[in-house]
Amino acid sequence: MKLGFSAADEAFRAEAADWLMGQMTGDFVDIRHIQGLTASPDRRKQWEQRLGEARWSCIGWPEQWGGRDASLAHQVIFAEEYALCGAPGRLGHIGVELAGPTILTFGTEAQKARFLPDIAAGRTIWCQGYSEPGAGSDLGNVRTKARLDGDEWVVDGQKIWTSLAHVSDWIFVVTRSEEGSKGPKGLTFLLMPLDQPGIDVRPIRQINGEAEFNETFFDGARTHADNLVGAPGNGWNVAMGLLAFERGVSTLGQQMGFRNELDAIIAAAKANGAASDPLIRQRLAKAEIGLRLMRYGAMRMLSNTDHARPDGAALTYKIQWASWRRSLGELAMDVLGQAGEVTDAAGYDWPTLPNLFLYSRADTIYGGTNQIQRNIIAERALGMPREPRGTQ
Ligand SMILES: Cc1cc2nc3c(=O)[nH]c(=O)nc-3n(C[C@H](O)[C@H](O)[C@H](O)COP(=O)(O)OP(=O)(O)OC[C@H]3O[C@@H](n4cnc5c(N)ncnc54)[C@H](O)[C@@H]3O)c2cc1C
Repeated sequence: MKLGFSAADEAFRAEAADWLMGQMTGDFVDIRHIQGLTASPDRRKQWEQRLGEARWSCIGWPEQWGGRDASLAHQVIFAEEYALCGAPGRLGHIGVELAGPTILTFGTEAQKARFLPDIAAGRTIWCQGYSEPGAGSDLGNVRTKARLDGDEWVVDGQKIWTSLAHVSDWIFVVTRSEEGSKGPKGLTFLLMPLDQPGIDVRPIRQINGEAEFNETFFDGARTHADNLVGAPGNGWNVAMGLLAFERGVSTLGQQMGFRNELDAIIAAAKANGAASDPLIRQRLAKAEIGLRLMRYGAMRMLSNTDHARPDGAALTYKIQWASWRRSLGELAMDVLGQAGEVTDAAGYDWPTLPNLFLYSRADTIYGGTNQIQRNIIAERALGMPREPRGTQ
């Protein structure tokens, strides 16, 4: 097993770092280190387009569709350098990491030509319409209905927690298209334009004051029949394929962002004296160990050449990083003490570390809760009996 990057990988790293730093100290200095996903949406759209122009937006995609055919190692390196230089969270990430790979895997050639170049160029922003008030972990409970009317699908129902719907152009939705069907049967996966009278997007304010996600209501909303992915009634397979991208090894590169966060906590602890508290010191050391273990785990996963079939270690990664980061948020607040609970910023604009604490509560929920991840590890990695599913 080889744990490390080759000389060619390091040359690629230098090229990526050079370009990114040039942007972040040049044209896009105003959005460097910007927090959350909702601030400065217009500038962030311009940033998506700049990434697209330079073909740095979705480097793992085929060149034909605006990518670079980059290896997984290079994708991780790029994500690391992206975080290191303080580039902002990607407004286009749902298109680049979820919609695009799904269309590449399950879409027709016409759908690839229609959608992929716009995603790669940062011209369209996407959001994900999976969760409903009664369907989160158990996606088989989806009740949003779709019916074919001539050459259009008509959709009625409600999605919830739709991140970035208010700034998006397109949404992919899991719908129930077969009357009376239950569970994973009878679901249909549709791509829909958001800007139409039948769709109403209403923001939900989060604990950190941002409104990054929304309720999305469909009332006679329409999309062309060509925007069906997979076969009608076979949407479960497409939806599950997409979740594999969301929970998969594509998140490996985020560790440099974690490094920045832990370094900021260590600096705060040194500055305010918390570093002399033996319990805080132990927790800082434990966080450092956890981060290094994640890094070596990531290297090990990269050295597994069959990325299409992640092994048991890859299945444990989501719960590992999400739990680590949630504890890191708690540590940040204990280091800051009372100063972490007040802000003199305008409105509800929290400084970085309290914001980390508040946002990291979500890490163990989205993309599959910790409990669901444990079920996945038990069933797929350990081969234990399937837990009973209410809807199947
Ligand atoms: C920041 C954020 C952004 C999000 N963005 C999107 C988005 O863009 N699009 C979208 O569609 N959704 C999005 N979601 C929703 C997310 O996918 C769901 O919150 C998640 O799937 C959990 O579903 P739920 O909230 O309905 O909780 P539930 O499924 O109701 O779960 C409630 C609790 O019960 C536990 N539980 C449920 N089933 C089991 C089981 N079988 N075994 C053991 N425990 C179980 C869960 O772990 C959890 O603790 C987002 C969520 C967050 C927090």
